[in-house]
Amino acid sequence: MSTPASPLTEVSPAERLMSVQGEIAGHCARYGRNPADVNLLAVSKTKPIEAIDAVAAAGQRHFGENYLQEAVAKVEARPGLTWHFIGAIQSNKSRLIARHFDWVHTVASRKVADRLSAARSKDQPALNVCVQVNISNDPAKAGVAADDAAMLLAHIADLPHLQLRGLMALPAQSDSLDDQRVPFAALRTLGGAARARGLMQRVELSMGMSGDLEAAIAEGATWVRIGTAIFGARAPRTT
Ligand SMILES: *Cc1c(COP(=O)(O)O)cnc(C)c1O
Repeated sequence: MSTPASPLTEVSPAERLMSVQGEIAGHCARYGRNPADVNLLAVSKTKPIEAIDAVAAAGQRHFGENYLQEAVAKVEARPGLTWHFIGAIQSNKSRLIARHFDWVHTVASRKVADRLSAARSKDQPALNVCVQVNISNDPAKAGVAADDAAMLLAHIADLPHLQLRGLMALPAQSDSLDDQRVPFAALRTLGGAARARGLMQRVELSMGMSGDLEAAIAEGATWVRIGTAIFGARAPRTT
């Protein structure tokens, strides 16, 4: 990934997608996971629709976006893809999110959950949601505290237009595989507790990005959210 690309040897997003799929398969083999249980979410934030089209043409269906304004334009342009919202949610934007997305991975309060459920169109299937957990209890990170997750999950399970699907975490970055595994293992344990309480039959674990993919698969990720390794580095946001 750090090899500088010359214009002649530049790797296309479709080729990068294939290499990420290969990496996922390799980690699954190493850790005894069934590759069919690890879904790839291609994180296309800041990337143009042409790049999304190239990856979609290579077979990718699920795309993740963080920034609502650019995301809505992309969702409207490509309604046939499956769109996941993975950014911070301002509660006054819940309606746009509820109407445009198939999944939301970053629900962390009752208020946002209530608003998403109320705003989901009755003509649409229930909105799939994961609860974002601040699994390492980092005051600088978003997400519900691990101790409060069960209450929020129970609340969401009763909302009419949301389908509770699982848990999501975005832990602090680390270069060590062992350190990376710690918060992911904690999220898996939390998911097991939620399943034992009957809150979900199957608990999706949305965890792992380009830099901690192996650790996430080792600890049971069912959705890995990969941006850079597919689309290349992102320019800093200016808006
Ligand atoms: C940007 C982002 C990703 C993808 O990160 P990469 O390091 O580019 O793979 C995954 N999850 C969330 C929540 C993100 O904001």
